[in-house]
Amino acid sequence: MKILVVNCGSSSLKYQLIDSETEVMEAKGLCERIGIDGRLTHQVTGKDKYVVEAPMPDHTAAIELVMKALVDPEHGVIASTDEIDAIGHRVLHGGPTLTTPMLVDQHVKDVIRECFDLGPLHNPANLMGIEACEAAMPGKPNAVVFDTTFGMAMPESHYLYAIPYKYYEKYGVRRYGFHGTSHTFVSQEAIKFGGLKPDAKVIVCHLGNGASVSASIGGKCVDTSMGLTPLEGLIMGTRSGDVDPAVVQYIANKEGMDVNEVLNLLNKKSGMLGLSGVSSDFRDVEAAKNEGNHLAAVALEAFRYRVAKYIGAYTAAMNGVDAIAFTAGVGENDKVARKEICSYLTYLGVKIDDERNDVRGVNRVISADDSAVKVMLIPTNEELAIARETVALIK
Ligand code: ADP
Repeated sequence: MKILVVNCGSSSLKYQLIDSETEVMEAKGLCERIGIDGRLTHQVTGKDKYVVEAPMPDHTAAIELVMKALVDPEHGVIASTDEIDAIGHRVLHGGPTLTTPMLVDQHVKDVIRECFDLGPLHNPANLMGIEACEAAMPGKPNAVVFDTTFGMAMPESHYLYAIPYKYYEKYGVRRYGFHGTSHTFVSQEAIKFGGLKPDAKVIVCHLGNGASVSASIGGKCVDTSMGLTPLEGLIMGTRSGDVDPAVVQYIANKEGMDVNEVLNLLNKKSGMLGLSGVSSDFRDVEAAKNEGNHLAAVALEAFRYRVAKYIGAYTAAMNGVDAIAFTAGVGENDKVARKEICSYLTYLGVKIDDERNDVRGVNRVISADDSAVKVMLIPTNEELAIARETVALIK
């Protein structure tokens, strides 16, 4: 079967066409600047990129251009969109009620809409993507895979905040966790690739622009570092991660800002960008550090320290750890970050093998043979995970 996987942001739309039998990605692409002007970068596997500058007033227009590119006689990969069997959508937040992957119907769309205030940047875009695909490919099944599904397996004592219970009952205020598709995929891959027992205790470090850590036993979530929204947990590109909530009130009072403005500051102007003052991109911060920028060095160390602190906490949460897996932009590409994070973990018997760690973007064990914990690099593949879930739903 051919599955189109769609991941919409407010002004962007990423897609992959995946053959579910071979699990080969046949084409991928990105629509950018939707609602501004519009640019599509399309690439069939093994061929050069094909760029189209064309107006994209909305996500429906973007999807129509994607369809055109996919069937283009020269740059396409299918003869007709009839060959697409289903569309799988990444959706950020399903709230407390939509907890597993499912086929889209009116109720699903209504709930995604009800969750706009839980995922203000992503949920509206995700819904636009679904409606755009329904319009462009009438009658094709659309499936949704929620970023929150993995975290829904957490026990009550791990997901509840210690605030009056009525806010959970009334509004679903709890820890949900995000990057769920990635944590599910990587924890399961780590068990398979590492030859671990099926109920292995695995910590996954998804370290990218957005970053989170999870603890899982046999792939089932015990804890994960993001919360009601993706703001909680690690230091990220532009997000602060954990802060004392009193910081919000204090800055609001001092600067004459309201809560929304301070939350915007914590989401978009903090993290590596805010602390270093250089950039949200880890490579830029690393370059600034190498030029002697003190705050860039502090930001990198703070990021790595926070990851190590979570690994320690999650080892306690599971009363042990069999494997630690690194993934996403930084986790897959930055051997120094992996090594430095692991340098906090020698008390667990973690030993990194420098030669094995000198690797990017492939499945590999990077710990020494006598390391007490297997440390691995496992590239994430959220699109493939979404395609698998979509196939399971339509079969
Ligand atoms: P997201 O999907 O959350 O936008 P990614 O997982 O793509 O993020 O990660 C992007 C981050 O990965 C960027 O900050 C980038 O600097 C970082 N990154 C990519 N390659 C490297 C590298 N070789 N060394 C350090 N950081 C890297």
